Amino acid sequence: MLDKDCIFCKILRKEIPSEIVFEDEDLLGFKDANPQAPVHELFIPRIHIETINDVDREGAGLLGRLFVAAVERAKAVGLSEEGYRLVLNCGRGAGQTVFHIHLHLLGGRPLSWPPG
Ligand code: 5GP
Ligand code: ZN
Repeated sequence: MLDKDCIFCKILRKEIPSEIVFEDEDLLGFKDANPQAPVHELFIPRIHIETINDVDREGAGLLGRLFVAAVERAKAVGLSEEGYRLVLNCGRGAGQTVFHIHLHLLGGRPLSWPPG
C-alpha cells in the first residue's frame, strides 16, 4: 500500500516530518514545504497511487473525500468567501513532481488564471 522510496509515503510513515493540518483514516493533509501562496497545503490518500490516471470508478469515493477534506479545510481557514484553488497535477508535463496523488489547496492571495 505504501512505497518505500516515495516522499509522501515517508511523510505518512512519519519518517519525514510535516506540519499536519488534517488526518482521518484514509487521508492526510499537511503544509507544502515550498509554499506558493500564504495557504498552500497538500491532501493525500494513505495509499500509494502514482497519478490520477490510476484511479477508476472504484476509487471515486476516495477522490471525492480528498476534495471534501480540502474544501472543509479551506472553509476552516476562512478562504471560502475570497476564493481558493484546488489543483491536482497529472504527469510530468503538467508539473507533477511527486508521484503520489496529492491535491493542492492554494489561497490567501489573488490567483491568476490561466495558470500558465
Ligand atoms: P507537484 O508539483 O507534484 O504537483 O507538487 C509536489 C509538491 O510537493 C510541491 O509543491 C512541493 O513543494 C511539495 N513537496 C515536495 N517534497 C515535500 C516534502 O518533503 N514535504 C512537504 N511538506 N512538501 C513537499
Ligand atoms: Zn507514496
